[in-house]
Amino acid sequence: MSANQTEAFIVHLYDYSETSRIIQFLTAHRGKMSCIAKGVRRKNNPWSFSLDRLNRVEIFYTWKSTREVQTLTEVNLIDSYPELKRDIKKQVLASLILETAFSMTETEQKVLKTYTQVCKAFEHISNSTITGEHAVFLTCWHLWQILIHNGIEPQLHICVRCGKPIKEVLHFSLQGGVVCDNCKSDKTLNSEEVRGLQLLQYLEDPLNIPYENKAFLSLFEKKILPFICSFITFHLRHPLKSYNVFQELNHDHISIQGVNHEKQN
Ligand SMILES: [Zn+2]
Repeated sequence: MSANQTEAFIVHLYDYSETSRIIQFLTAHRGKMSCIAKGVRRKNNPWSFSLDRLNRVEIFYTWKSTREVQTLTEVNLIDSYPELKRDIKKQVLASLILETAFSMTETEQKVLKTYTQVCKAFEHISNSTITGEHAVFLTCWHLWQILIHNGIEPQLHICVRCGKPIKEVLHFSLQGGVVCDNCKSDKTLNSEEVRGLQLLQYLEDPLNIPYENKAFLSLFEKKILPFICSFITFHLRHPLKSYNVFQELNHDHISIQGVNHEKQN
């Protein structure tokens, strides 16, 4: 057994006994990791504030390779992202990024780039000057970067089935990217959607978007985010829980607007 230290994001927490919790972390150096936090459910436990979902923390733990769950010995809070947690939409988008990064990571895997991407994404989205719509765009961009770090970003220029270069993209296969007219596809994209995806591929600084207007941002909310999430879901072979929550949230928002509208009439 050895003592270790690392930085981590808190992905899930489960009650384990009357006093303990099991926590799933995304760490930069060990990938996915589960730890037991003993006594954390006791009243006034000093760790209970730090050990919250989406928090970024420094953890100390004892490691034993034969064990699936390690033992947490100390926690220091780095950031609890209060700005992000005040806004339900931003919170769900942050969860979506963390869930994607976590799902693509193995245990005992070094994932420095993916981890750093999550840090950057949380920093961007939690900025109070970023609107909910802009946060959706940023989420798309960061998800795309995570796909790149994992070597599965969609191919946008060459038919993924026959290798033919494609000038005008219309068809898409969830397996890996665009397909030509002669090959089998799963989806058809319109030119706006293609432009949106190409922008994600080329844009270096997502805070500096070339044409920030309502129509542009709504394209990312209505088409690009659902598209990226269906791509990720296909590759993970299981649904993204946070994306389902995001859809419910949008649906509720639309119904509330509908109710208000009726009242005004
Ligand atoms: Zn082809």
